[in-house]
Amino acid sequence: ASYPNDGSRCQTIDFTKIDINLLPTVILVGRPNVGKSALYNRLIRRREALVYNTPDDHVTRDIREGVAKLSDLRFRVLDSAGLEMAASSGSILDRTANMIAKVLARSHFAIFLIDARVGLHPMDVEVGSWLRKHAPGIKPIVVMNKSESLDDASGSLTAVAIEAGRLGFGDPIAISAETGLGMADLYQALRPLLEDYMLHLSKDKCCEENISRQNTSSFEIDESKLPMQLAIVGRPNVGKSTLLNALLEEDRVMVGPEAGLTRDSVRVQFQYQGRTVYLVDTAGWLQRTRQEKGPASLSIVQSRKHLMRAHVVALVLDAQEIAKEKRSLKHAEVVIARQAVEEGRGLVVIVNKMDLLKNSPLYEKVMQAVPEEIQTVIPQVTGIPVVFISALEGSDKMAVMHEVIETYEKWCSRLSTACLNRWLRKVMSRHSWKDQAAQPKIKYFTQVKARPPTFVAFVGGKTQLLETDIRFLTRSLKEDFNLGGIPVRIMQRAMS
Ligand code: GDP
Ligand code: GDP
Repeated sequence: ASYPNDGSRCQTIDFTKIDINLLPTVILVGRPNVGKSALYNRLIRRREALVYNTPDDHVTRDIREGVAKLSDLRFRVLDSAGLEMAASSGSILDRTANMIAKVLARSHFAIFLIDARVGLHPMDVEVGSWLRKHAPGIKPIVVMNKSESLDDASGSLTAVAIEAGRLGFGDPIAISAETGLGMADLYQALRPLLEDYMLHLSKDKCCEENISRQNTSSFEIDESKLPMQLAIVGRPNVGKSTLLNALLEEDRVMVGPEAGLTRDSVRVQFQYQGRTVYLVDTAGWLQRTRQEKGPASLSIVQSRKHLMRAHVVALVLDAQEIAKEKRSLKHAEVVIARQAVEEGRGLVVIVNKMDLLKNSPLYEKVMQAVPEEIQTVIPQVTGIPVVFISALEGSDKMAVMHEVIETYEKWCSRLSTACLNRWLRKVMSRHSWKDQAAQPKIKYFTQVKARPPTFVAFVGGKTQLLETDIRFLTRSLKEDFNLGGIPVRIMQRAMS
């Protein structure tokens, strides 16, 4: 099949270069036997399918998720075949219905399959109204599958298309999941939708130089709008589970294997103010915590490997213990906090059980001691956020999430090169060097990556930036672009 480009618009985004975690999700829906699985298999080819087992007392239903490849388009595809969209039968167990709602909430687009050989079936109409009710924001692309055997010349396909139009979702596309017929049409229908989605995510944080559709060869997205991986860590009994329950209050847990990882690594997710937050290896620590109550070891993230999967690490401390001790942080806690920062993760420190210190003079002492000690043990990052809470009272979860999200957003920041170089000229003139010769000759300054923000300074001639120059630049960057509290990296390259 050929995949025509319709001018400049199609050149804008190179989907093959986008991290799969950032790609939009397309769900395949339709009554049983219309060919959802067949289309799913065609889209992901031999790429490994991920299977979500939805725990159910009697039946196990599966939702498969994979990365779809349609010419140069890439997207995440969810096959809802296991969910049996028997909307009318009332046979959907509450739990499954709940599951479908969750899966729909994660989907950005839908492909709604009908069987071209059957024409519009009453159950298709039910699926249509079900979709309208549960996913009002999604306008599905209707496809007439199995149309390879239908003769368009005889008008039979046109007749089905007219019937399918009654679903009210626009003109249907004739495809065959089995032979590949119509994939170019599906591509053309999907491309503008997926592109709009990616452009919507895009944002230049610094200047008003917005992305122009025509002129952008490299495309950047506002990654802070994407799902966050949060690790809640701490020694046993500090209150991690209690905090987690407070966070999950409104939204129950969904468990499934994580993209790119082994099947037995489980992830828990929740929604917070319209954001998806994944909890890293929480199931793991829940198990381990149960077994390990007592010893003063950290029950999670003892290895850097685990830490690397988190974007933000929330380290939970116990206020009552701090009040009793000379030092706020135990050895294991210092190790974790340092590792988090060294690995370039965002760190938020949570001091829990503050309710136990109410009306005690130790309350103030703890409030003061913890930030000071964090600063001492992690001198390279100033202003790491510290939140004082009572997970038991539950009312502070807003404060926790506020800091976590702010940290994540800073961690995802991207500053444009033009903007950085304007800034560089200003800070260099603002600062006075002892003598002119000591002033570093930075020719060019650019951000090479986000998560965490990482910059490269191109230095002229043989001069090198000194440790003090790097510290000065880091401090200025943090102040001028509100990047305090997160690790920021500056590297240097010689430029002749
Ligand atoms: P699902 O229940 O919607 O996931 O449907 P399946 O993918 O399991 O397909 C149901 C049946 O339709 C299977 O026997 C498939 O082989 C068949 N099928 C799927 N796609 C096509 C197609 O494009 N053409 C034809 N002729 N049969 C198809
Ligand atoms: P985990 O081992 O870190 O998951 O800790 P848990 O969440 O199981 O909490 C350990 C104990 O501390 C339990 O008895 C909780 O009820 C208690 N706890 C947790 N958070 C608070 C809090 O904010 N205030 C008080 N007073 N107790 C708490």
